[in-house]
Amino acid sequence: MILVLQKNTPEPAIRQLLAQLALQNVKGGCVAGETSILLPLVGETWRLDPAALQALPYVQEARRLTPAYHLAARSAHPENTVVPVGDVRVGADFCLIAGPCAVESAHQIQTVAAAVKAAGAVMLRGGAFKPRTSPYTFQGLEKTGVDLLVQAGRTAGLPVVTEITDISQLDLLADVDVLQVGARNMQNYTLLKALGQLRRPVLLKRGLSATVEEFLLAAEYLLSGGNEQVILCERGVRSGVSAARAALDVSAIPVLKRATHLPVLVDPSHAAGRSELVLPLALAAAAAGADGLMVEVHDRPACALSDGGQSLTCRQFRELSAAVTALLPYAWRPDTF
Ligand code: PEP
Ligand code: MN
Repeated sequence: MILVLQKNTPEPAIRQLLAQLALQNVKGGCVAGETSILLPLVGETWRLDPAALQALPYVQEARRLTPAYHLAARSAHPENTVVPVGDVRVGADFCLIAGPCAVESAHQIQTVAAAVKAAGAVMLRGGAFKPRTSPYTFQGLEKTGVDLLVQAGRTAGLPVVTEITDISQLDLLADVDVLQVGARNMQNYTLLKALGQLRRPVLLKRGLSATVEEFLLAAEYLLSGGNEQVILCERGVRSGVSAARAALDVSAIPVLKRATHLPVLVDPSHAAGRSELVLPLALAAAAAGADGLMVEVHDRPACALSDGGQSLTCRQFRELSAAVTALLPYAWRPDTF
């Protein structure tokens, strides 16, 4: 980080500022220029808040040179992080995750599990605790839903991913392979801190209007607790102008891949909101370098209790899987970042 101070800053004020920074394990130098005084800072600068520093007397500007998300940053960890989930190596091999928005019945989840496995999915998704916009809509089967999901995953030979909306659900989710933090909870820092204490894979979705930096700082909550098994998932942001449910931020995929070593998945379904948009968004995401996709699939989308409009039929998912697989050799995948 570099601080730019007014040219007339008295020396005692500079000494006091450097002494305060030293308490936060930050050391600084001092270079007097023609129009200002520069303080280059080194050490644990991620602890510093540029806005707070800029509010101090004599400080004209505080500029970061390294990201605040220092554990998530690729600069600190050049190799891709690989999160093992059963036989799946998320971050190394392209992975397709598929399943219904919500687990609704044993028949539904078993039918979808078998179909998506046959079509090439390597993980099964299904919500049991659903964070719905309206309290009057289907809220998920909760414990029963988790049990049905785990059972269907075992039968089909697929690890399972489901959303955790509160840390009190952890015991019920003991047999779940990947805990999902939904877009609405990306900034639930209490939940993130608790999940940071675990040593289990967490799939963190981007908040509805989160910047890439906010997204990576949310991941930093997990990493700074010691949980290194973090998977990111772009799922579209609110733009106010998108004709789809959300604007899939395709550019965030290469931006994230450069900024962080964590795997970057994409959920085209929640961005699309309509089933006919899912395939083009999935292809765009794969081409832009995503490490995998998470897609909503239902055996009878018209009867789905949640997100039926954006759910693919099992057959449509088979077609998506084939199309994405055919595209992968041409996808953006640099050797070095
Ligand atoms: C989901 O994946 O089930 C979900 C609710 O997605 P999001 O949190 O991205 O809205
Ligand atoms: Mn959904």
